[in-house]
Amino acid sequence: MELTAQEAWAKILESARVRLPGHSFHTWLAPTRAIALSEDTLVVAAPSDFAAEWIEDKYGDLLVSLVHLLLGDRFKLTIEARAAGLSAQAPDAIPVADLEELRDPPPPESPGAAVPSGTVVGELNAQLTLERFVVGRSNEFAFALCQAVADAPGRQYNPLFIHGGVGLGKTHLLQAIGNHVRNKFPGLKIAYLPSEQFTNELIAAIRNRRTAHFQARYRSVDVLLIDDAHFLAGKHSTQEEFFHTFNTLYDARKQVVLVSDRAPQQIAALEERLISRFAWGVVTEIARPDLETRMAILQRKAVEQQLDLGEDVLLFVAERCRSSVRELEGALIKLLAFSSLAKQPITAELARSLVGSSLAPHRDLSADEIDQAVAQSFGFTVEELRSKSRRRQLADARAVAMYLERSLLELSYTEIGKRFGGRDHSTVIHSIQKVERQLGDDSEFRRRLDGLRARLR
Ligand code: ADP
Ligand code: MG
Repeated sequence: MELTAQEAWAKILESARVRLPGHSFHTWLAPTRAIALSEDTLVVAAPSDFAAEWIEDKYGDLLVSLVHLLLGDRFKLTIEARAAGLSAQAPDAIPVADLEELRDPPPPESPGAAVPSGTVVGELNAQLTLERFVVGRSNEFAFALCQAVADAPGRQYNPLFIHGGVGLGKTHLLQAIGNHVRNKFPGLKIAYLPSEQFTNELIAAIRNRRTAHFQARYRSVDVLLIDDAHFLAGKHSTQEEFFHTFNTLYDARKQVVLVSDRAPQQIAALEERLISRFAWGVVTEIARPDLETRMAILQRKAVEQQLDLGEDVLLFVAERCRSSVRELEGALIKLLAFSSLAKQPITAELARSLVGSSLAPHRDLSADEIDQAVAQSFGFTVEELRSKSRRRQLADARAVAMYLERSLLELSYTEIGKRFGGRDHSTVIHSIQKVERQLGDDSEFRRRLDGLRARLR
């Protein structure tokens, strides 16, 4: 079957359409065009750089698995920005709320910049709701806080700061707060934006001499939801501006929620005054989901997609995909794509060949490997590391090993204590906390640990 680029892309879009919320499909994928199909690459054009990046980021996994299924595994998908010949989108569909405005010649500063009531700045995805968030041990605290905040913004837990690894549901929760507030309090002004967008808009505002406009815009919202706050790292003027925005909102008892892949103290070059502001409210972490939660998430998502998966398939996939919910979803998308193109029921066998082959084999890191890597990095032997000796440098290295066993393997404090010459759990906690503090104030140390972590992956 020889397909043209256009035919192939049309088929892929057809499959993607039923997998995505109508609004997303319409906004992002409908305006794309196939440009070329070579030996091993399908090239597709999107109307702008921004759209190309967005599509790659949000729908890349889905599209690539559809490309593989339709054309074969060797095919790559390239999404290019190419404005010519592509219809522009409705301005309200562009998540960077000010794109249009930024292109205009700067009008005189006017007080009319405040966001009118009931407006949402940025894009809320109506699919990401509290109801659709599956709660388990790893995220129940964060979830409860988000629920409380969404029910009564600005009342308590202000600011709320949630951190955790990639694909664990931070954006989902943040969006869910926005959606809930929008439905429950239709008069409130909500802004949802990644911190980079805050930075970009600020830079544009400075360039166009519209900073007053920018300030009025963000200082007039009722709920400010900042995604990926770690990108504030090292951006001095953005932090400065954010600090003032934060103060204004906080004083007016408006709700601020931030999510980040790191705790505030671990965001490099985040100003002390911001760190201390975040500590005024609640800082909490989302951990990786345990097996039970992964099963529950998969089950729920399969039902939502009307995909019938047996217990054995669920278990196989949940055991296989441990790192994040996103990884779980990626596996599910593969299964869905397969079942919709091949019209075959999904058996455990099939799941094994689809999911098992595509994901990199899961590396089972052991605590012994951690000890070896740490010992080597600090110039000790593993025996020394596990000994009773309290030599300062040895104790430091030991604390790092404990920290890594806790954060990478989720071993209990007691288990860790046993591994290190039967130390009791309070000693372990104390050592781990010391490492966490040092991660906060010592960038040299942070780099060293990042290096160790990378080596262990
Ligand atoms: P993060 O922002 O932490 O990187 P996301 O919020 O983007 O992660 O989550 C990745 C994907 O997993 C999203 O599609 C999200 O809807 C889904 N997801 C994450 N956690 C849950 C959960 N507890 N229940 C249901 N879906 C979840
Ligand atoms: Mg996110």
